[in-house]
Amino acid sequence: MEDRCVCCGGIIPEGRQVCYDCEYIVNEKVKEFSKVWDFLKKACDAIVKTIQEFWNSIKKLFKDWVEVLARIPKNKRDYQTQRLLYYGSIITGKSNNWRRMHGIQMVRRRRL
Ligand SMILES: [Zn+2]
Repeated sequence: MEDRCVCCGGIIPEGRQVCYDCEYIVNEKVKEFSKVWDFLKKACDAIVKTIQEFWNSIKKLFKDWVEVLARIPKNKRDYQTQRLLYYGSIITGKSNNWRRMHGIQMVRRRRL
């Protein structure tokens, strides 16, 4: 009985599972796949890097603003200022104690 390729059913030398043609095709597909994989990996790394840089620039921007806004007396802060202060203090990693010291707390949108 002749040995046959498990992929295409072609006749193959004894002791083999697949013919040389099918083996070649599979190897090419693997090479192609690893190229695509490398590309995706590089693209993901670039996206992560961009997001990190974006996030860092946001943090930097907020760092100064939070200090400036915190000097506005509590009773003179409008809704937007309070929100900016609250989220800014979180983004820049201020402690709960710092927030308490500057009278900063979460504010909810007032219903119209
Ligand atoms: Zn084959």
